Amino acid sequence: MCMDHSFVCKCGRKEASFNFRNEVMPPETVEALYCPECSDSIAFDPGTMLKDNAWVIKYDMDIAGLYSSRLPKSDKENLSPELLFDEGYITWRGVYPGDHIDSAREREELASLAKVNPKKYFEEMKSWAINRMIHLKEEGWRKAHEG
Ligand SMILES: [Zn+2]
Repeated sequence: MCMDHSFVCKCGRKEASFNFRNEVMPPETVEALYCPECSDSIAFDPGTMLKDNAWVIKYDMDIAGLYSSRLPKSDKENLSPELLFDEGYITWRGVYPGDHIDSAREREELASLAKVNPKKYFEEMKSWAINRMIHLKEEGWRKAHEG
């Protein structure tokens, strides 16, 4: 089970939804969130921060360390901002912040076609999913490069 939590960035203009895989890490592990507008003014610290397309997540690595006993041994030994993000312990809900909102809207737009022309709908859905991933990869989102 993945709990969904939203965080507002430091400047307050944007927010992002996070997933916490198996709820191993508590929400408090996210110390701060910086959107592309407010990440400019911070000094990037690779020891506690993860950068994804100008968004920056700052983790409280002390809290992460405290809860790391719940992680598999190999994850525990490699505890880092990258591991927390890439292994899904604390990561975007979807591929990028706001992904689940955009994709639901885009899918809804296609859904009207389902009643009129089911065959075309399935074709459109398939190419929509593929093209979407190609596009996100081009934009450079970290999770679009997985696998
Ligand atoms: Zn911001």
